Amino acid sequence: MTQEFNPYAPPRAALEKETNNACWREDKLLVMQVGSTLPPRCVKCNQPALTPIKTRKIYWHHPGWYVLFFLSIPIYIIVAIVVRKKADIAPALCDAHRNRRRLFLAIGWGGFLLGLGLVFVGISLKSSGWGIIGGISMLLFIIVGMIGSRIVFPTRITKEQVRLKGCGKAFLDSLPQISF
Ligand SMILES: [Zn+2]
Repeated sequence: MTQEFNPYAPPRAALEKETNNACWREDKLLVMQVGSTLPPRCVKCNQPALTPIKTRKIYWHHPGWYVLFFLSIPIYIIVAIVVRKKADIAPALCDAHRNRRRLFLAIGWGGFLLGLGLVFVGISLKSSGWGIIGGISMLLFIIVGMIGSRIVFPTRITKEQVRLKGCGKAFLDSLPQISF
């Protein structure tokens, strides 16, 4: 099934049936078969999703590779690009959660630009204090923006399955549970 917007898409019940058994929850994780689609409901609160639902690329590599990051960042980046696994997913959001995501994106970008401005103030005033405050602000706002705006993130990607964290309880509760 295509994940692009389709005005002639089948009704929700048909979509739900089609996605049946293709994704399920394991405790706080959402597990989906590669190539399957998620239910067309907000992954945070389980309300009906806004359409079109955007398809997003996600990447994952084994956390052990992070050791390289501390040895050499350029080598880590090259290795990460080679070993990373990728998947296409289309996690849906409702109006409220899309707005929340946009707010965090605006906070992240706004704070980043403010920090950049402070770095330039520091340079023009030859003040290392403003430069450091600007640099730290840029980093903090990038982190706040990234974490606040992310929808879901992978904890593992294999050839067969994608495991995702970050779904809300209401959405997870609506999925079949598999316990170990
Ligand atoms: Zn929602």
